[in-house]
Amino acid sequence: MARTLAIIKPDGVLRGLMGEVIKRLEVNNLKIIAMKMLHMTRDQAEGFYAVHQERPFFESLTGFMSSGPVVVMVLEGKNAISLYRDLMGATDYREAAEGTIRADFATDIEKNVVHGSDSPETAAFEIGYFFNRFEIPA
Ligand code: ATP
Ligand code: MG
Repeated sequence: MARTLAIIKPDGVLRGLMGEVIKRLEVNNLKIIAMKMLHMTRDQAEGFYAVHQERPFFESLTGFMSSGPVVVMVLEGKNAISLYRDLMGATDYREAAEGTIRADFATDIEKNVVHGSDSPETAAFEIGYFFNRFEIPA
């Protein structure tokens, strides 16, 4: 069993895609073991995306991620990290495989509906960023 952090980004919440994303997790055997809605400050978004601080899109990305509420979830399942990344599709929706969340719904390389951890190490950091030990099952 593995765990990963998923986020429905502000564009996904604003466009009414929460139910659609959650449904795709459920039908693909990704168990939601913790979930909440929150609205990050710019500082909190910068801390979350600290690995990208040298990238040219950092300012824009952290502005976008703090522009409205997001839904953060801890997903658990077999190969949860790679399975969920497969469901999301490539970062750039134009390169995302058919039937993926980003291919079906994203309209922009930045506003791409969802986030998912990319390794066990980032999953541990990202889960800890949003959830304390009382909020997730041992
Ligand atoms: P995420 O980390 O959000 O799950 P990812 O791992 O597919 O997405 P990263 O390379 O980690 O992609 O980039 C993080 C986020 O930064 C992307 O999801 C997207 O919102 C934004 N981003 C990435 N590349 C660009 C770019 N070239 N221009 C603008 N925004 C970008
Ligand atoms: Mg990433």
